[in-house]
Amino acid sequence: MIKASTPTIEDYLETIYGLTKSKGYAKVVDISGKLNVKPPTVTSMMQKLGDRGLLRYEKYRDISLTKKGVEIAKTVSDRHAKIMKFLTMLGVDKKTAYTDTEGIEHYMHASTVRKIHELVIFAENNPRWLDSMKKSARKKM
Ligand code: ZN
Repeated sequence: MIKASTPTIEDYLETIYGLTKSKGYAKVVDISGKLNVKPPTVTSMMQKLGDRGLLRYEKYRDISLTKKGVEIAKTVSDRHAKIMKFLTMLGVDKKTAYTDTEGIEHYMHASTVRKIHELVIFAENNPRWLDSMKKSARKKM
């Protein structure tokens, strides 16, 4: 997750969820590395999110999301996947698509993401439409 701005609560939950899925656990140091923030910042955020009932945090222990935390993280990951798919479908390279997705995903309404996803589904079912869209756009540029 490469971004200059301060990570949001959603970024933290998304990161912990991703780490738990890929490594089986999440530690302050891993989160710090992924989000590019200092460990003490992560620690105080963990306490805050713990107080909100989104995760379980104890010193020197792995961090785990509560049911409520997982629910939010899943919504965020789903949104991420849909925006990512849309951008790569348009031909945006994976790295750029990832950076841009991280930049915009927290600011999009669920209804907007749904509309984008509808377009992706349509394009998948109509590959020739997508092809001709790309070709005609290129001609005009
Ligand atoms: Zn994301």
